[in-house]
Amino acid sequence: MNPTSTIHLKRGKEESLLRFHPWIFSGAVHHIEGNPQEGDIVDVRAADGQFLARGHWQIGSIAVRVLTFQDRPVDHAFWKERLSAALDARRSIGVYGREDNDMFRLVHGEGDFLPGLVIDIYGRTAVMQAHSVGMHLCRQQLVDALTDLMDRQLDAVYYKSETTLPFKASLGQENGFLYGDGNGDVARENGLLFHIDWLKGQKTGFFVDQRDNRSLLEQYSRGRNVLNMFCYTGGFSVYALRGGACKVTSVDSSAKAIELVNANVELNFPGDTRHEAVAEDAFKFLSEMKHPYDLVILDPPAFAKHKDALKNALRGYTKLNAKALEKIQPGGILFTFSCSQAVNKDQFRMAVFTAAAISHRRVRILHQLHQPADHPINIYHPEGEYLKGLVLYVE
Ligand code: SAH
Repeated sequence: MNPTSTIHLKRGKEESLLRFHPWIFSGAVHHIEGNPQEGDIVDVRAADGQFLARGHWQIGSIAVRVLTFQDRPVDHAFWKERLSAALDARRSIGVYGREDNDMFRLVHGEGDFLPGLVIDIYGRTAVMQAHSVGMHLCRQQLVDALTDLMDRQLDAVYYKSETTLPFKASLGQENGFLYGDGNGDVARENGLLFHIDWLKGQKTGFFVDQRDNRSLLEQYSRGRNVLNMFCYTGGFSVYALRGGACKVTSVDSSAKAIELVNANVELNFPGDTRHEAVAEDAFKFLSEMKHPYDLVILDPPAFAKHKDALKNALRGYTKLNAKALEKIQPGGILFTFSCSQAVNKDQFRMAVFTAAAISHRRVRILHQLHQPADHPINIYHPEGEYLKGLVLYVE
């Protein structure tokens, strides 16, 4: 697992590394000593031979994703130290070590100095996702370090990288348990219970990144008619019910999601007749809806997965928000989000601004929302910022 090849950079290309930027682009490479295969650990040296970093070799425009800027082995002690630092950060943020909350993101890639790796903790199960071949090849070492670190707190580690790895065909990886076999699928977020479908669910099974935004929604819910569009597992719906909403409607085009939201409402508020779930396309539902809603959530999937899809994505956000703004009751509140990494805060705000203009409603921004503290952004890697949201007051 230790470097067999060395990447020598062109003169002057060491500067971003000296500032701790975690990627090396292929254009910065002068020559390669050895014959690195995708996913191998390589050393990076400046033109004058100075050691700069050690990281995973990749094929493509990002040539190396840096694991460490120190000349030290990438071994069990290394992984355990990184994971331990991540866990300490979660404790200080206040999402770990609590009675009423046992799900959180433990590792957020570059944001935790572990590029290409995501680990979410759901109760006694960890779900691990590799976004690089290097992390895929290190998966068993990562599991060993994680179970060593969290010892009696974990029963299982589920590996879920079937759809997140590049060149996946040649790796032959499958989703499956790398440790234990996880019995029980319920985890707790801010005192509310959720079934987590890590086997078949989207991403790692749940969207932990909306935790704080759901709490804010709860505060706005009392006495309101709530419409949760793109509800998936119904996170926002369950918080709205606890917050005292008089009616909550959850909408998702996937029948599986509707089953999940119903199960989660039942888990927390058995027999509660304030909730209904509808399997329907969001645009169709908004066009045809008759009920007056005064609190609406729009949390669609990423409209732009890549930069080239940006223009269409922005049009999509405008169209969706315009529809919601046209229909919301006067005095209504709209929580609107974008999780597309390719769309930045200003572009999203502009798309919503255009929607407000189209709808001819008087709109004010009450809150500007983002990803929570367990999804930290490496300051040298602003690309790690992806979730943004606005809370609007609509007259
Ligand atoms: N708000 C959710 C996460 C949403 S994920 C949460 O807090 O957990 C996006 C969801 O949008 C998925 O469940 C997907 O099934 C749904 N979806 C995608 N396209 C849709 C469409 N056109 N209409 C309705 N739902 C859609």
